Parts: sequence; C-alpha cells; structure tokens
Amino acid sequence: MLQRRRLLQAAALLASGGAAAQPAAYGDEDLRHAALLRDLALRDNAAWRLVEALTTEIGPRPAGSPADARAAAWAQEALRGLGLQQVRAEPFALRIWQRGPAAARLVAPVPQPLVMAALGNSVATPPGGIEAEVAWYPDLAALRADTSDRARGRIVFIDQKTERSRDGRGYGAAVGARFSGPVEAARRGAVALALRSIGTDRDRIAHTGAMAVDLTVPRIPAFAVSVPDADLLARLHGRGQPLRMHVVLEARADVEAVSQNVLAEIPGTDLADEIVLLSAHLDSWDVGQGALDDGAGVAIVCAALGVLQQAAQQTGRRPRRTVRVVLFGNEENGFDGARDYGTRHAAVRHQLVSESDFGAGRVWRMASRVQPAALPLVDAIAAQLAPLGVERAGNDGSPGPDAAVLMRRHKWPAIALGQDGTHYFDVHHTENDTLDKVDPAALTQNVACWAVVAWLAAQAPLPFGPAPL
Ligand code: ZN
Ligand code: ZN
Repeated sequence: MLQRRRLLQAAALLASGGAAAQPAAYGDEDLRHAALLRDLALRDNAAWRLVEALTTEIGPRPAGSPADARAAAWAQEALRGLGLQQVRAEPFALRIWQRGPAAARLVAPVPQPLVMAALGNSVATPPGGIEAEVAWYPDLAALRADTSDRARGRIVFIDQKTERSRDGRGYGAAVGARFSGPVEAARRGAVALALRSIGTDRDRIAHTGAMAVDLTVPRIPAFAVSVPDADLLARLHGRGQPLRMHVVLEARADVEAVSQNVLAEIPGTDLADEIVLLSAHLDSWDVGQGALDDGAGVAIVCAALGVLQQAAQQTGRRPRRTVRVVLFGNEENGFDGARDYGTRHAAVRHQLVSESDFGAGRVWRMASRVQPAALPLVDAIAAQLAPLGVERAGNDGSPGPDAAVLMRRHKWPAIALGQDGTHYFDVHHTENDTLDKVDPAALTQNVACWAVVAWLAAQAPLPFGPAPL
C-alpha cells in the first residue's frame, strides 16, 4: 500500500514536469474548504459547551482518579455527540501521586501562617511535621551554584520569580525551580524544599505542579507558598534574621492505577494510514476545575474535529489523511499518556502532531517544525489564519507538552499555535483555574484555527516530516 502510494506520488511528480523546481502548493478547492471550515467554526459555540460541561459535570480530574475515569467516559460521549463515530479509549497503567492535608508556618522570627500547596510527587513529612531553619536562595541557579554545606539539615527556600509574558517564556525560565529544585536541595542534604509559587498573580493562592524524582537522592517533602507569602519571607530574609519554618504534609506516592487516552478520528481517503494529530490533555491537577489547564484545550480540539465532521457531512469532502484527536491522560505528572501513545503508534506515519494546552487565550502566532520542502505549505496555512489575527513564526516551534514528547521521540512534524498566555499563569495549577476565566469568543477563534490547520495538514501534497530537530 505504502509502496504503491509512493509510486503514484512519483508518477504525479513526473507528470507535473518534475516538482523539484515547483514549490508545493494547495489547490483552490482545498483552500476554499479551509475558508468554509473557518466560517463554520466561528458560527459555532461547541467548544464553550464542552468546557462548561467538563468543568461542571466532572471538575478536577487527576490522572488515575475516579474523576479521571469519569472524564474519559464523558469525553467519549461528547465526541460521539459531535457526530464522530470512531471514538475509543486506550488504557494504560501508571503510578500516581495523591495529595493529603498539608500546612506550613513560619515559626521564627515572627510566627505567621503560610498559604502553601504540596508539589506533585512530594513525599509526606513525618506525622509531627518538620521544623528547621530556612536556607534562602534567590533562584534555582543560586542553589545549583552552592557547593557549601548551607542547605544541610535545613528547609531550602527558592525565591524564584515568574515574569509575565505573552508567550509563556517567563514560566519557562522559572519552572525549573519547581521541577528540579527538590532534587537539587536533597542533593545538598536539605530536609524539605519550599519555593515561591511559579505563577504571575499576586493572590494568596499557591501553585502546585510536578517535581522530578531522582532515585539516587533521598525524596524530601516539597511545596510552594503563595506569592504574597514568598514576599513576606523575602522581607524577613532581607532584615538579616534567621527564618525557621514548620511544615506538615501528607501524601501518597507511587500508587498503582489506570488512566487512558481518548481517541476520535475522521478516517482519511487515499492517505488514511497517515495521521494528523490534534491533542490536549484530559487530566488536571486536583485543585481548581482544570478549566484553562486543560479543559479549554480539550474543548478546542474536540470542537475542531466536530467542525471537520460537520463540513464533511455538508459537502461530502473528507480529509485525505486521517484526522485524529487524542486527549492524553496524565500530562500533568509524568506524560504517561503521551508515552503510551508513542509506543502503540510508533510505526504509523504522522503528518502532524500538535496540542492545545495553554489556556483559553486567542491564538496569535503559528510556528512549525516541518521538513524544508513543506515550508511553502505551512506558509499557506498561516496565510489562511491571518484573517483570524495570527502571525507566522519560525520553523523552530515546539508544540504542547505531550506533542513535544512525540515530536522529539519520533521526529514527527509539528505545528504550534501560540495562544496569548499573558494571564494564564495567574491561575495555572491553582484553585482559581475555573470556568469564569474562559472567554467563549477566544475559544471559537481557537477552534477556527485548529480546523484550518487540521484540514490543510491532511490535504498536503507532501509529507510534513521528518521534523528537523
Ligand atoms: Zn496543561
Ligand atoms: Zn498543567
């Protein structure tokens, strides 16, 4: 089948007089259909209805929990409700982390309560908690540079700040403190790790998130304090007084569980064995409703596939390649879903991997990671998105987290639609990640963008891959 197609493609190249000199291009009909999809999406509010239902009827859905299983059942039902027939779940085993009650307070120089949240994968403290002097570091780099004994027997505090940015670079620069801070502190003999929340808000709410586990160092309790609490610690540290902190934290790590990826697709026609993959992640942290992270992404990619299906029914035009939505399980704490998908589908050619996982802001730019010969096609996709306010960015893009795992592991090509994340990290991984933060009009614009990208990736006269890494 594959060989026959290649022969047909070679014959088509010859018939066109040798395509080497001719940049690849879309036909007018495909571009007209893209415009139709865009208009259909802009008249539709399916994405809003989906995120409203997911946050209202399911709520927080940490991987492997009963709510995660309910979310997977809900998602399959919702996808069928969009007229899609090829809907299924692919289960996988994983080890999960479960939060228990936790509290922290400053003991000296001034007793004060601290608003905190344990980090995912943190171990529990002993039942009576841990009390120790604080070893204060301005950022992760300072901790890494410390070759002294200062952290030994202490609670390391990293005062890493997160700068607000449209494209999330401030988060990217800061998140290492959360992810690697506990291991770096444990290596230096610390008894616990605390840090300023990786977030851009000024609210008295702590941001959770995953931390790395390194089996060569002891696992220590780790938690984030709210930004105003971190400010308090910084002021007291500035006064030159030693700080003492107490933390008590319950948690269970490495609990055996099952989660699943949810898949839905529109089968392709002549290139049905190639996959155009749109994705989001179905799991969320246990705090909040997972509205922005990543209920919005779930709603956007499901609605985009729904628009393609609706258009196929109206016009009889189905995509050449199979367009598949995957809602990944456990993005938040280990990428188990992405890794399971990659293993199961490793032998299948992927024309595109992509993910919507940056909240509910409008798409403002499109980056790619495709082979050079496909660049004219990707530029043509960007031109279709220009009326939606989207700029073309470079060919060094990185898609969302799960899709990036797949891109790097399999060299599958990618398109990244960059959303406006100016306010995303105000609520990310907190109790404040709730439905009221979602703007229905911005969701609709996202759906229109993804519908166009999916369609034109499916119709492309060339493979987009392999991705240049
Ligand atoms: Zn996410
Ligand atoms: Zn997240």
